[in-house]
Amino acid sequence: MSDTYPAGEQPYPAAAPASEALFDRARAIVPGGVNSPVRAFGAVGGSPRFMVRGAGPWLFDADDRRYVDLVCSWGPLILGHAHPEVVGAVQAAAALGTSFGTPTPGEVELAAEIVARTPVEQVRLVNSGTEAVMSAIRLARGFTGRSKIIKFAGCYHGHSDALLAAAGSGVATFGLPDSPGVTGAAASETIVLPYNDIAAVEAAFAAQGGEIAAVITEAAAGNMGVVAPRDGFNQALARIAHANGALLIVDEVMTGFRVSRSGWLGLDPVDADIVTFGKVMGGGLPAAAFGGRTDVMSKLAPAGPVYQAGTLSGNPLACAAGLATLRLADDEVYRTLDRISGQVRQLAVEALSAAGVPHRLSTAGNMFSIFFTDADVADYDAARTQHVPAFKAFFHAMLSHGVYLPPSAFEAWFVSTAIDDEALARIAAALPVAARAAAQECGT
Ligand SMILES: *Cc1c(COP(=O)(O)O)cnc(C)c1O
Repeated sequence: MSDTYPAGEQPYPAAAPASEALFDRARAIVPGGVNSPVRAFGAVGGSPRFMVRGAGPWLFDADDRRYVDLVCSWGPLILGHAHPEVVGAVQAAAALGTSFGTPTPGEVELAAEIVARTPVEQVRLVNSGTEAVMSAIRLARGFTGRSKIIKFAGCYHGHSDALLAAAGSGVATFGLPDSPGVTGAAASETIVLPYNDIAAVEAAFAAQGGEIAAVITEAAAGNMGVVAPRDGFNQALARIAHANGALLIVDEVMTGFRVSRSGWLGLDPVDADIVTFGKVMGGGLPAAAFGGRTDVMSKLAPAGPVYQAGTLSGNPLACAAGLATLRLADDEVYRTLDRISGQVRQLAVEALSAAGVPHRLSTAGNMFSIFFTDADVADYDAARTQHVPAFKAFFHAMLSHGVYLPPSAFEAWFVSTAIDDEALARIAAALPVAARAAAQECGT
């Protein structure tokens, strides 16, 4: 496939006829034209690009344009697109049959790899991060015999009812539905607190500690943009939860096997009772998991009474992709991800500084995002001080210069080991143009 944008020459035209035609067709038969909302470009405007192929650091769209991919399927693809060993493992598995609905050797291997890399003693495989977290919550409630959970504003844990709760206003200590269709009853079991605020957690336990089954937190927040936990925040959550007979659920769906071989817990250990995984562990196929201590996990059916099941759980193709990815993800891979992340963020900060655009670089291991604000960002309220129009202008300039960023100001940027000198040169060429576009929006 040809690249219609040689570096240093004309940007891609704003119109993308093939993608636009596909989007028109999709919108007639798929709600909003997409199968997951952020893909629709609603937060940045314009028409989403329909991708037809990936290779290493590059994505190729239906109009035959290529982009350096800084989304990496929202995290999973730490080795880049179509890594030959991952593709080969999936092909080999597919040739043996796509699903058996029985136990298989591959799922034991994948579970063993997860147990070897992380503090969990037992793990159950599922199909999505949403399912992993939803099941972890049920397990925590079944284990403690309590019903309430604490989550933090701006942390995303999938789209199950209990976790689509928003903070109540003022003195309300119960959550409110964050989407039509979530019942008040489901949301009211969820207490939503500001991220990085230990005093709020202590107050919630003081008020209703006997009813709280679990505190759930992203290992390092990545779904309001990247916001790392303050030093000691996760550890304080463990201490407070355990002092009150509650569990700590650490959600590593995004950070797991991305920021280190053991995820965020490898950089910042904490005494978690249940840990959820997804994204990288599926190598780009649908696989996720939740795990924990044997005394907790053994409450799950069929070992125990808490019901959980899945027709395609531990699917052989997904296990093959995940296992191939994790087996390749050695210390050298994580050093490379750290180095590339450092290079990209340095280029971004230089370009934005040179253009005089207010910004804050926020990192958690090799994950990072750039907040278009002057404020220090430690929670969701601070993240929302961003100049969103500046991000939109920045995003579209990057896109037309062949770099695919997350189409929202509130997302992490993800790198892969496949980003080579050519891809870095493309990023370096695009950033100053995009920074000037953002500066114009800011009036600087
Ligand atoms: C992506 C994500 C989820 C949801 O995973 P899906 O596979 O999209 O259902 C849950 N928690 C965190 C922290 C995530 O980043």
